[in-house]
Amino acid sequence: METAFLSLAWVIASVLFVNSLRGLSNPETSRRGNGYGITGMLIAVVAVLVGGTLASEPTVGNLQFLLPAILVGALIGSVLAARVAMTSMPELVAILHSFVGLAAVLVGYAAYLDEPNHTGLLLGEIWADVLIGAITFTGSVVAFLKLRGSLSGKPLLLPARHLLNATAAIAALGLAAPFAMAAGPEQGFVFLLAMSVVAGLLGIHLVAAIGGADMPVVVSMLNSYSGWTASAAGFMLENDLLIITGALVGSSGAILSYIMCRAMNRSIWNVIFGGFGADPPAPKNGAVAAPQGDVVATTSDELADEIAEARAVVIVPGYGMAVARAQHATKEFVDYLRSRGIEARFAIHPVAGRLPGHMNVLLAEASVPYDIVLEMDEINKDFPHTDVVLVIGANDIVNPGAQTDASSPIYGMPVLEVWKAKRVVVLKRSRSSGYAGVDNPLFYKENTRMLFADAKKGMDELVAKLQQKVG
Ligand code: NDP
Repeated sequence: METAFLSLAWVIASVLFVNSLRGLSNPETSRRGNGYGITGMLIAVVAVLVGGTLASEPTVGNLQFLLPAILVGALIGSVLAARVAMTSMPELVAILHSFVGLAAVLVGYAAYLDEPNHTGLLLGEIWADVLIGAITFTGSVVAFLKLRGSLSGKPLLLPARHLLNATAAIAALGLAAPFAMAAGPEQGFVFLLAMSVVAGLLGIHLVAAIGGADMPVVVSMLNSYSGWTASAAGFMLENDLLIITGALVGSSGAILSYIMCRAMNRSIWNVIFGGFGADPPAPKNGAVAAPQGDVVATTSDELADEIAEARAVVIVPGYGMAVARAQHATKEFVDYLRSRGIEARFAIHPVAGRLPGHMNVLLAEASVPYDIVLEMDEINKDFPHTDVVLVIGANDIVNPGAQTDASSPIYGMPVLEVWKAKRVVVLKRSRSSGYAGVDNPLFYKENTRMLFADAKKGMDELVAKLQQKVG
């Protein structure tokens, strides 16, 4: 009876998780997708508690400890998620992945110690679960500390780092033999603990070798690892839902990492192993390149005149719009343009800002209609027919050097070709570089004007000027 009940719950929850991923792939349906995910998880937790408690041989006990722990965890999670700034989201995700890794390790230990006799298959599952769990745990903690700035963002490139990684991997795998052949659980557990330490050190070293600039991609990779850990735990606990959910998280995290690597022009191997192969060295986060030319500054007054004459305007938001929280002022600007019959659209680069979908979330928060928010591939061909492109706090994603300067660390990264428009206005506070730390030849182009201001103040002023001029 309880098996049928659990199977039904697993099927419903799995369908909800698949629909959740589907929904999350588009800003228009993402809220609904989130709802599906929450409902699926709720069903899964309740089904485990109810099914496990009511079974003829109960598998869930100690509810007096479990329920308060769930409540406290849920409370802490809600407060953290509500408080976190969008720009610190990768940090929060990293620390949450570390919990998944740690939980997998502890569940692996419990599964091993719980029963004296294990089949070879179960021993293999426990081994895989603890191995991936320990790497995910320590790797995520290092990623969290790097993102917070508590650890230097510089990659730790030890001379024999690949040899060290290989030795640790071989040692972790080699310990499997004495573990499987151990005389009793006490002896076997020592080997399991030893392997956890080796795997934990490997996790630390793998992530320490990666520069701060690649950390969000690493977080996405760790997300994938945490999925595979959960899947391994699912095999170990004979829990079909955990296997399915883990596989969904594992594969979607891997796909996202690959997409981010392509958009940032990084090799996935470079991200996994740090400084691997012959790729250009990862630029230091926050490094400032010296400006290489003369710029022409403009004012909001001049820009308002140009906008009033324009028929097609494209807005390119970037990290600066996020930190200045200028999305609402930008929405007002768009409303103004549309009310005057001027075409206004947004061009979104896949890695604009600091996390995937960063700009889409901010624009959705400001209630910008989805149909005027276009992806890079959709809008690049339209720049030659655009009168004014307004770049708000973006830099690397509009850098023409990515197409022309083979020595640039971002050479080969696909960019928004804004320089093809009749006029480009870049709204930022200074001439300083962006995340990649490289100079931007866009600023020196003949058709470019620089509007030096904080993004929020600049947009407020521009809207005020437009209203003053044309009403
Ligand atoms: P950039 O980091 O290239 O540039 C942002 C610009 O915003 C800066 O040059 C800065 O110039 C300006 N700025 C900062 N604060 C303000 C403010 N208050 N008002 C106005 N301007 C401001 O950002 P992009 O969005 O163009 O590019 C994203 C970069 O981040 C890429 O290099 C990408 O690879 C990287 N990245 C993206 C990830 C993602 O998933 N989205 C993950 C990891 C990295 P100034 O100081 O002069 O104002």
